[in-house]
Amino acid sequence: KLFNEVQELKGNIRVYCRVRPFLPGQDKKSTTVDYIGENGELLISNPFKQGKDGHRMFKFNKVFSPFASQADVFSDIQPLIRSVLDGFNVCIFAYGQTGSGKTYTMSGPSTSKKDWGVNYRALNDLFDISLSRRNAFSYEVGVQMVEIYNEQVRDLVVSLFAIQPNGLVVPDASLHSVKSTSDVLDLMEIGQANRAVGSTALNERSSRSHSILTVHVRGLDLKNGSTSRGCLHLIDLAGSERVERSEATGDRLKEAQHINKSLSALGDVIFALAQKNSHVPYRNSKLTQVLQSSLGGQAKTLMFVQINPDVESYSETISTLKFAERVS
Ligand code: ADP
Ligand code: MG
Repeated sequence: KLFNEVQELKGNIRVYCRVRPFLPGQDKKSTTVDYIGENGELLISNPFKQGKDGHRMFKFNKVFSPFASQADVFSDIQPLIRSVLDGFNVCIFAYGQTGSGKTYTMSGPSTSKKDWGVNYRALNDLFDISLSRRNAFSYEVGVQMVEIYNEQVRDLVVSLFAIQPNGLVVPDASLHSVKSTSDVLDLMEIGQANRAVGSTALNERSSRSHSILTVHVRGLDLKNGSTSRGCLHLIDLAGSERVERSEATGDRLKEAQHINKSLSALGDVIFALAQKNSHVPYRNSKLTQVLQSSLGGQAKTLMFVQINPDVESYSETISTLKFAERVS
């Protein structure tokens, strides 16, 4: 309810920043994060500059401190997730440099329940709510997982539970019917395993590709027979770090160019939507093409911008925050 009210005021795009904690062994004193406000303020200090010019203030819809738990983050976005049951399309992105916590936020560091990221919690919540409404509504839930690597869309979940793919939103992907959260856990494990195929360094590859988990929900109102269709896209984006031209050659350079192109195409689309421009440039990347029907219109978009507080990440942090500032 509150979310919808805020949305009416601010349009359908929200930006949340999440600051990763220091990892064991990192020097906690060398942080760029000076201050996190209650209302989305974030003050970043420049480790190479003293005084007034050495600081920059950003403002987002919300900033999660390093102490925010997975449950804290989820409780904030729960109303948005539930709106999918009412027929809304929702996209949730995680943006940031490699190592900033994108996968932690979207999937979590392990599949144990307290570690669950947005994707498991979202599925679990959708099943819980649909069960609690079972006297009034009947819901059908389908899940897809795809990866976009070098502008190619690859289906990560091969046909395990074959059902006819009615009303596919994401092209080139199989749709799987799921009955419970554990079905989804199984599917996602298969997806993760498929992601590794043909790749010697899984982490390397996964940070160079976008992964999209899509949850389709079809609802039937048992009283009046009306139907609704909603869809939730959970997107773990490729690392946003700039690759030095001199360092990258061959495949690495090609990857970097594809990532740059698709992340800036995403930024342009969200910017155009935030500005309510009549032309939205969806055609400029595979990522924005795939998500076209769920970006804009009545659809709701949430971007998590992830930052690593380490001073070494300062320039990437600033460019990440500038990207986010432009689309918010
Ligand atoms: P990315 O997907 O952006 O490359 P990861 O999600 O893999 O980054 O995070 C990098 C490391 O930081 C991992 O070891 C992860 O467990 C840890 N990490 C990230 N965010 C948090 C957090 N909020 N709390 C604790 N550890 C975190
Ligand atoms: Mg990752």
